[in-house]
Amino acid sequence: MSVKAEQKARNIGEKKEEGKMRVILFPVPFEGHTNPMLHLAQILYSKAFSITIIHIITHLTSLHPSNHPNFTFRSIEPDHAETCSVGGVIELITLLNRQLIEPLRKCVAELVGEVDNEIGCLITDAHWHFSQDVANEFGIRRIVLRTANISAFLGMLALPALRPFYTLPSSETNLEDPLPNLPHLRFKDLPTMNNESHHFIDQLLTSIFIQTKSSSAIIFNSFHDLEPDSLLKCHHLFSPIPIFPLGPFHKHLPLTPQPHHPSFSWLNSKPPRSVLYVSFGTLATLQPHEFLEIAWGLANSTHPFLWVVRPAMVSGSEWLERLPEGFEEMLGERGLIVKWAPQREVLAHPAIGGFWTHCGWNSTIESLCEGVPMLCYPCFGDQKSNARYVTHVWRIGVMLGDKLERGVIEKMIMKLMAEREDGEIMKRVMDLKEKADTCIKEGGSSFNSLKNLVNFILQK
Ligand code: UDP
Repeated sequence: MSVKAEQKARNIGEKKEEGKMRVILFPVPFEGHTNPMLHLAQILYSKAFSITIIHIITHLTSLHPSNHPNFTFRSIEPDHAETCSVGGVIELITLLNRQLIEPLRKCVAELVGEVDNEIGCLITDAHWHFSQDVANEFGIRRIVLRTANISAFLGMLALPALRPFYTLPSSETNLEDPLPNLPHLRFKDLPTMNNESHHFIDQLLTSIFIQTKSSSAIIFNSFHDLEPDSLLKCHHLFSPIPIFPLGPFHKHLPLTPQPHHPSFSWLNSKPPRSVLYVSFGTLATLQPHEFLEIAWGLANSTHPFLWVVRPAMVSGSEWLERLPEGFEEMLGERGLIVKWAPQREVLAHPAIGGFWTHCGWNSTIESLCEGVPMLCYPCFGDQKSNARYVTHVWRIGVMLGDKLERGVIEKMIMKLMAEREDGEIMKRVMDLKEKADTCIKEGGSSFNSLKNLVNFILQK
């Protein structure tokens, strides 16, 4: 391919939007990070900004530029030979923070060289700490997007300094002890990543902290009434940088009806609040014995369930072949297993009465926005602190426990589903749903935060 043709192929959907200020967004290529960044892009597009997304060519997301005809896309490419050889998520993000400096610099230089749209700012995921130096080099303001909530971000940033207190062999710290300055979280709620080195994790978190402090502003996919104390702490920690909590992002946008997905004809046949929705997000994996415990726990509970099992989610399996012979036939109409579900729309369906979740932040906020109580089984990263907030601060869910065991699963499903009529958990989650609805309406905290963000970007 000629250089020109290659350039053309890479700059998909080039838009000329005269007079509009351009906002460049650069997501981390995991669905749980890309989706909220794309939602933010849609929100800013609706405020008359021209949107350019820099995306990484990788198998890690299902981001299709053709699904976003209003945006311009620029792609950058890592060294696939090197990225394919790394072991875990943290190591991969660490490597990309090093590898992508030159490609991002080149891409931003090209965008700066185009005179048609003035660049308002570069919004990058908090994990892309290297992008601060690139933004500085071109005199562009970098705004950090933390796709998760504020409390978990504070816990995450506190981790490197707290590490010696709870991982050294001589450590006397009880894992049940509250964290200094973050009393809602315990040492055991701090983020962990399966089998990844503490050194990589702490180095990455320290760099995120330093470069967020050097940024021009921070955006959170959360809202004031959900985390007032953490928001205040964050203001103190990052002062004088402005902070814009303008979530829940997806509530600023209309639902996309998905009438043809098989989940909906099945859900339509179920009574209100009768179904448990089960999904562990886009990254978590299960061992075959854990998968079986879940299957039997669900089967033994008396409730209908809709269960998302991603292909290859169970180690060594393509999809459902580890289920016992005849399992699905035995369930009949009571259970539906799918490879993917339009989750926002599923959670909004009147038949849903509970959500068994891994407590990824997107799942958590989507659930509370629909008034659906949660059964929490956090797996890694910030999921443990999210689960702690769900069960002990907002008190809109119950914790499953550390182990997947069919008897416990059955018992906890029954406990959660008993709440859905008139329980205290149900009342609290409905109250939060109302707060989430209110905050994005005119005069609400997220509505105002968005207005302030727009002004901030415009006042270059
Ligand atoms: N999701 C979905 N359908 C699925 C599984 C996941 O729509 O079958 C979406 C879900 O709505 C959420 C995101 O994928 O927006 C998962 O993000 P989360 O932060 O909950 O978890 P992660 O995948 O990052 O662990």
